[in-house]
Amino acid sequence: MPDTHHGAGQQRRGNPPSKCICPQCGYKADKSPAVPCWSMRCPKCETTMVGG
Ligand SMILES: [Zn+2]
Repeated sequence: MPDTHHGAGQQRRGNPPSKCICPQCGYKADKSPAVPCWSMRCPKCETTMVGG
């Protein structure tokens, strides 16, 4: 199957990051498309999550 690796650093269209990660403790949570990671908080340490 054609799976080129062009587009340095760019996410592929239709395939955005699906996880949010806590930079404090490394907890990973499923990302909701409508909810940006930075509006979520880690359930363990309540740090603002970041995109994966
Ligand atoms: Zn955390």
